[in-house]
Amino acid sequence: MKRLAIVGGAGRMGQALARGLAARDEFAVVALIDEHPIAPLAGAICASDVSALDPSTVDVVIDFSSPRGVLASASWCSAHAVALVVGTTGLTDEHWSALEAAGQRVGVVVAANFAIGAVLAERFAAMAAPYFERVEIIELHHEQKVDAPSGTAIATARAIAGARRAKGRAPIEDPTTRFSVEGARGADVEDGVKVHSVRLSGLVAHQEVLFGSPGEGLTIRHDSYDRESFLPGVAIAVAHVSATTPELLRGIDSLL
Ligand code: NAD
Repeated sequence: MKRLAIVGGAGRMGQALARGLAARDEFAVVALIDEHPIAPLAGAICASDVSALDPSTVDVVIDFSSPRGVLASASWCSAHAVALVVGTTGLTDEHWSALEAAGQRVGVVVAANFAIGAVLAERFAAMAAPYFERVEIIELHHEQKVDAPSGTAIATARAIAGARRAKGRAPIEDPTTRFSVEGARGADVEDGVKVHSVRLSGLVAHQEVLFGSPGEGLTIRHDSYDRESFLPGVAIAVAHVSATTPELLRGIDSLL
């Protein structure tokens, strides 16, 4: 049985994961870490900082907190030979460097989206990408999301751009030359693949990839209606990752 500590344990994802993973026979949630007061979970200790953990009691740290939290988790896991699964988004080069360093010593899995449907949607988008002239992404999330565009949209845009380049397709050019209001055409993530971010209450996590060519269109849409949708993917990552197999695995596509 793998023993898990959840950083961000008081948060929306942390609470959903704590309940969902604790209900599975193959996992035990032994600790919840958060700067804010944590709703207790039977069998789990609560602490405000990852440094309070006893490494001999934890096999995998799961981080759904903040980029700052990821730095602490990566450093602690690396120093104490504990595997790490990261779902936190909004990571910059500084965070990726820390994760790469941790991945030299222990197993690390980082994914911008653990929903199986979202992983498949990205795969399907990369398949379609070289065959259409234009593509734009609309990502829609709950109103409390602090980073934009979503990590999923960035990853999808990069996968699309990479798939187009691999087939010799040129970057997508924007025909817009006159902006009545700046920003109306979204953000160019890579090679002209645009992302538009929507924030509304009532939403969880949703994304549409819209492809267009003369006379036809293709829309690939994924919806996470509930945070439960992320649980199976996190469980796959936790089952895979190991402190004794150093790696930095980006995304869970290869684990499906
Ligand atoms: P949230 O704000 O509800 O929860 C985050 C929690 O982390 C908070 O309770 C906060 O106090 C805690 N926290 C932040 N920094 C900390 C630190 N340094 N040490 C200890 N605790 C810390 O947010 P959420 O909706 O649960 O999302 C958390 C993260 O997970 C976000 O980055 C979000 O984008 C990401 N997310 C990823 C996926 C995925 O599939 N990869 C899915 C949903 C959300």
